[in-house]
Parts: sequence; C-alpha cells; structure tokens
Amino acid sequence: MKKDDCIFCKIANGEISSKTLYEDEEFRVILDLKPAAKGHALILPKEHASSLYELSDEAASKALVLAKKMAARMTDRLECDGLNLVQNNGETAGQTVMHFHMHIIPRYKNDGQAIDWEPKDVSQEELEEVKKQITE
Ligand code: 5GP
Ligand code: ZN
Repeated sequence: MKKDDCIFCKIANGEISSKTLYEDEEFRVILDLKPAAKGHALILPKEHASSLYELSDEAASKALVLAKKMAARMTDRLECDGLNLVQNNGETAGQTVMHFHMHIIPRYKNDGQAIDWEPKDVSQEELEEVKKQITE
C-alpha cells in the first residue's frame, strides 16, 4: 500500500522524479538530494512502511541483500574506500522522513564526515541489567 501524503511513496513509485540508480518491482534506489558524500544513496521500498518496526520480514531481508549488491557496484564505480549503512527509526534516532529507508553512504579517505557516537564507560552490572531487560 502507498500512503497518499508520503513523499518517499511518491518517489519510490515514480510519481516524483529522482536520480534512480536501481529499480525493481519492490524497491527503488535513489541519490539523496543532500548527500553526506558523493554517491550517498537511499534504498526505498515501494510499499509504505513508516520504519523498521512496520517493515515486513520479506522486505527487510530483501533490503539488506539489495544494500549488499549496491555496495559492491558503488564501491567499484565510485572507488570509495568504504561505506556506511545507516538506518534511522523514529525522530529521536534522527529519522526525518517517515517511510523506511536505508542510507548507503560511500566513504572516502579524509572526506571530513563522521557517523559517530560518544562511547560511554559502564559497569559490568549495568551491562548485566540491560542484558536481562532485553532477554528475560
Ligand atoms: P533520515 O534522516 O530520515 O534518515 O533521512 C532522510 C534523507 O532523505 C535525508 O538524507 C534527506 O537529504 C533525504 N531526502 C529528503 N527529501 C528528499 C527528496 O525529496 N529527495 C531525495 N532524493 N532525498 C530526500
Ligand atoms: Zn511512504
């Protein structure tokens, strides 16, 4: 299902044009309008899912296989030195467009970008507590 007011539904389904790198029945891969680095791309499922929480298992598996294929192709053609897969869920986590998408961000030596967080020191007890919270 498409969602009427969703810009990525419109892009994924070709109602709004985009720089398309790949398309099949279920996905479109486009260049990000405001790239973090040359070749920054977005994998968009054509079916609307607001985030990973809503994505079907089938679309989730296919998205990662597609990311792998795109990564190989883009690394070959762009001669990047590596790449980041980034996938944000929820405003707090930095999601700004509420249609599931996976960023493929090619990385180049000295590109000045950072996909980063501040590592914190925690005790073994804290790790044990959170492990219990998730697993029990
Ligand atoms: P998020 O922060 O939700 O993970 O990422 C949304 C991404 O979509 C951003 O990197 C932003 O530049 C990109 N974006 C937003 N609107 C458009 C658009 O209309 N076209 C394209 N190609 N990219 C978009
Ligand atoms: Zn959508």
